Amino acid sequence: MLIDRFGRAIEYLRLSVTDRCDLRCNYCLPKGFKHFEEPDNWLTFDEIERVVAVFARLGTRRVRLTGGEPLLRRDLPALAARLSALPGLQDLSLTTNGTQLQRHAAALRAAGVSRINLSLDSLRRDCVEQITGSDSLPKVLEGLAAAKAAGFSPIKINMVAMRDVNDADIEAMAAFCVEQGLILRLIEAMPMGETGRSAHYLDLQPVLERLSRRFDLVEQARELGGGPARYWSSRDGVFSLGVITPISQHFCATCNRVRLSVDGTLYLCLGQEEKMELRPLLRAGIDDAGLEAAIREAIELKPERHEFREQPKKLVRFMSMTGG
Ligand code: SAM
Repeated sequence: MLIDRFGRAIEYLRLSVTDRCDLRCNYCLPKGFKHFEEPDNWLTFDEIERVVAVFARLGTRRVRLTGGEPLLRRDLPALAARLSALPGLQDLSLTTNGTQLQRHAAALRAAGVSRINLSLDSLRRDCVEQITGSDSLPKVLEGLAAAKAAGFSPIKINMVAMRDVNDADIEAMAAFCVEQGLILRLIEAMPMGETGRSAHYLDLQPVLERLSRRFDLVEQARELGGGPARYWSSRDGVFSLGVITPISQHFCATCNRVRLSVDGTLYLCLGQEEKMELRPLLRAGIDDAGLEAAIREAIELKPERHEFREQPKKLVRFMSMTGG
């Protein structure tokens, strides 16, 4: 087991397989951004599998593939199949913007990806275009349909809720999720890099109160996926809501995860700089015992909490660099 200095068991790895993305969500990647990692610096599938195998031996039970847009990494289903076969891993999931999902959903399911989170901030085509920088809604909805047809269930919809941008869309998104049998997850925008800081932050606590009254929600004790969301369900069971509130009510005391970026940097906290570079160690021929020791050493660096609220200008890294 990996236990950090604050007694938290680390059993969840977010694995970024690329820092590239086909969308430019205005709270995430700056328009015109070109400083992506060189392919030579990407961890290879062999290297990723080695690192994840060591994590699994150290007690990691869940891995989430993310990015950037993970489906831009060529042959992702082949990597997924290798990871899902690793002893000890119980849950391999994926976060995607959905634009490429129509082509890959069935192969991902066959490769052992068990759950999908799909990012969608509005059902209004113009609003999605304004946020993502392209007219992506039709493709995303096709991707969602393909994921449902491939048997992914439940599918969670990640919606970054922003004041005066898409806050008026929350009820429509809830109705859509009820109709389609999806779980809606509302996320507070985090001040990650200039892009994140420029997002119109919306406190989700009043939204939660409003939706609780509207749908007669009761809080769920059961964890749904081991991530940072708190969940509510309507008494009739038709609507499930997850709320991720890193700003208005942070959840660092129960943080159980670390993040590996495409270049092999292990980030210990989404909102802090503590990290360890694993790629140089891998390429210098470190053995598994050495890798295990390096990961244990890195876990010692995990900070107690982020400081998005107290120091919103601290983080220059934006979300897609770390892996969302
Ligand atoms: N491309 C994939 C996607 O869109 O789901 C995976 C990576 S994306 C960085 C993962 C999640 O991070 C998305 O749901 C996105 O909305 C969210 N995100 C990005 N920047 C954010 C920010 N500054 N604050 C809150 N969420 C953010």
